[in-house]
Amino acid sequence: MIFIGPTEKGLPLAAISPQPTALAAGDAQKSIPADRESKPETSAYGSGTHCSPENRLDIIFVGAHPDDLEIACGGTIHSLVKQGYRVGMVDLTDGEPTPASPAPEVRWAEAKAAAAVLGVAYRRLLYLPNRRLMDGFDERVALAKEFRFWRPSMVVGFGNKTPMASPDHYQAMQITDAAVFYSRLTKWDEHFDGIPPHSISTQLYFKLAFEPAPLAGFDSLVTVDISDSLEAKLASIACYKTQFPPAKAHVFDRVRGLAIAAGTAANVPAGEVFATTRPVAVKDLVKHCRQSS
Ligand SMILES: [Zn+2]
Repeated sequence: MIFIGPTEKGLPLAAISPQPTALAAGDAQKSIPADRESKPETSAYGSGTHCSPENRLDIIFVGAHPDDLEIACGGTIHSLVKQGYRVGMVDLTDGEPTPASPAPEVRWAEAKAAAAVLGVAYRRLLYLPNRRLMDGFDERVALAKEFRFWRPSMVVGFGNKTPMASPDHYQAMQITDAAVFYSRLTKWDEHFDGIPPHSISTQLYFKLAFEPAPLAGFDSLVTVDISDSLEAKLASIACYKTQFPPAKAHVFDRVRGLAIAAGTAANVPAGEVFATTRPVAVKDLVKHCRQSS
């Protein structure tokens, strides 16, 4: 499992990962913009490199803040890992400051614990600014480099605005949309440290489980059966002790209730709903639309 965040400062990636990776050829330090010098950063990239075929990630989930992904799609992440897929999580910001967290390192430790519960192969913090996250060229490129390096076939990110919650979420959606596009662009390698283009075949949107309304405005929805991963999802959220102290225990009831409601609509015990950015075509209609009785 590879983590890249504040507590990994200065460590070469080979020291972070307990497993051999394709990254040994290029553990170069990435230059850090002056206004972010206080944010330690370790790069996974060497010039002109990308991960080897056996180390590529099948799917990358992108959140604005550590805990977004656990709340929105922790069950799906856990279920995919159990099915043998290599899953990555990218947090655009460190989510700090927040009222209840004493330090970014504490929040990152919680994020790493949550990633361990879900079993993902990789979690990366990109250090874009929390609370003032804005869609811009540098932000798009930073995320597109993740896609180019890890070469996933699928990317899952925020879908639409989250009124009454952080505006970072909508910015994250726009950044993710653009990064999926930037990932495949040729004749532009100079913007991506020489990391070659990569085409992502599928993009999905998620919503935070706290939002009562379904993903509005999207015609094509798919429900993932997370019946065997609901407890792991809740356990991953519980890793964020600073964000969900005992006074916020009701959050877990809400997440469970919404997962059960989403599953019930699809006739499974628990589910998470995603919007597909294009209609999904299937060849085996019977297999893909089978309902339990
Ligand atoms: Zn968030």
